[in-house]
Amino acid sequence: QVSDALAKEGPSSPSYDWFQTDSLVTIVIYTKQKDINLDSIIVDHQDNSFRAETVIKDYSYIMHVGLSHEVEEDFSVRVVENVGKIEIVLKKKETTSWKRLGHPLENHNSLIPRKDTGLYYRKCQLISKEGVTHDTKLFCLMLPPSAHLQVPIGQHVYLKLTITGTEIVKPYTPVSDFLLSEFKEPVLLNNKYIYFLIKIYPDGLFTPELDHLQIGDSVSLSNPEGNFKTSQFQELEDLFLLAAGTGFTPMVKILNYALTNIPSLRKVKLMFFNKTEDDIIWRSQLEKLAFKDKRFDVEFVLSAPTSEWNGKRGHISPALLSEFLKRSLDKSKVLICICGPTPFTEQGIRLLHELNFSKDEIHSFTA
Ligand code: FAD
Ligand code: NAD
Repeated sequence: QVSDALAKEGPSSPSYDWFQTDSLVTIVIYTKQKDINLDSIIVDHQDNSFRAETVIKDYSYIMHVGLSHEVEEDFSVRVVENVGKIEIVLKKKETTSWKRLGHPLENHNSLIPRKDTGLYYRKCQLISKEGVTHDTKLFCLMLPPSAHLQVPIGQHVYLKLTITGTEIVKPYTPVSDFLLSEFKEPVLLNNKYIYFLIKIYPDGLFTPELDHLQIGDSVSLSNPEGNFKTSQFQELEDLFLLAAGTGFTPMVKILNYALTNIPSLRKVKLMFFNKTEDDIIWRSQLEKLAFKDKRFDVEFVLSAPTSEWNGKRGHISPALLSEFLKRSLDKSKVLICICGPTPFTEQGIRLLHELNFSKDEIHSFTA
């Protein structure tokens, strides 16, 4: 039925095949889609269970088998984009010939709506934790060698910890390190590291526990989720980012992507709302970027500044927005991204509509 529904929209159901040599087992997924890339495929194998989830629009194609023989922990993933083919190469532990790949597990060889796949978790290791502001830290998690996963721009994941016997799950938006020029990172391991900017609330449920983890401890991390699409950037000329507090996190990758990949882009402006100067995340990095790239401007607005602050003050308001949201050309194509505390985002959307921006010109990040 689902395949039928998808077929009506165009794409046909994916399929898979496998073959082997003495030392390798190659699994091939034919997505029958052209816009497949390394972001589209999530692979995990834990013990002998092998699971590959291919995201195709709002659906997931799942391959899930109990392998018939043992394989090494690490594997490689390759995508042949123009034909939508995915190849996953597993290394056999022993050079025996496999008669079959394995036995089917939950949802094997099925195409299901993404919202129905459930959250699948793998354990990541805490690699580092560095203070960014007085209450925000940059956490680096490392995926296990037995997982392939990349979090697409504008999407979040869930982190899970067991706290006094109860599993607690909260969403977080990975950031990229492009604002941190002094960053040292082994290039080869690039895709294994996932960075998060997380504010620790001393009386919060989850963040104090996260903060208490030691380097080397593990945290479970889910598959990515979210409805932001990079197609929203097509032919974009003006990008406006409205962020409050840690609502800045989705803006980091967006900023990087827009400045590097959108040739039509003329202007990117970030209005960053915080309570005090001390709360501003990566202030000097943002100022440096604005200095370096003339297309980018940043403005800080404080709701509880000291008397010395001579920048903008207050909460999100019609006056602040109408001054800030000036198109670089009369009819330029704009996108406004907004993220922060729920009342901030809700009020912002209301004000944007009052300023005659259409639904298509606004992307709000919410749970
Ligand atoms: P909580 O226990 O939720 O408490 C947070 C604060 O609210 C505390 O000060 C607490 O005292 C207060 N509080 C709790 N309940 C109430 C109540 N009923 N009334 C009034 N006050 C209350 N955060 C980040 O730091 N970085 C991110 O990248 C990030 N990404 C997110 C992505 C998404 C899609 C969403 C929805 C949220 C994201 N968040 C992010 C927020 C994050 O998910 C958590 O909400 C946050 O870390 C707080 O969790 P906590 O359990 O520590 O605090
Ligand atoms: P904060 O309390 O430090 O406030 C930052 C600024 O938000 C304030 O200076 C003010 O300008 C504005 N603000 C706060 N409350 C407001 C209100 N009631 N009305 C209008 N403006 C208001 O913010 P924080 O503690 O960093 O919280 C960030 C929020 O962003 C969290 O609620 C978090 O869940 C959310 N967040 C959401 C996503 C997402 O949905 N994708 C991602 C990251 C963060």
